[in-house]
Amino acid sequence: MGCGETFDKKSLIRIVRNTDGLILVDETGRMNGRGAYICPSAECLDKAFKKHGLDRAFKTTVPKEALESISEYIKEHAT
Ligand SMILES: [Zn+2]
Repeated sequence: MGCGETFDKKSLIRIVRNTDGLILVDETGRMNGRGAYICPSAECLDKAFKKHGLDRAFKTTVPKEALESISEYIKEHAT
């Protein structure tokens, strides 16, 4: 999702929509639910947000609070 750069899959950040419908960062990579991968880059995340990539990936409107917590996580882990 996002820029089309290629990253090693294990360096990508997995976002998951869990069975309760919550959208969050899957830090373990093992959560159940629909997943989407995003680059560990704040810039790519911004692009994905603006293009509504997450909304499309999860077929729902991602709540602002979820976007903010994902954004914070990625900023902490960005390369
Ligand atoms: Zn990217």
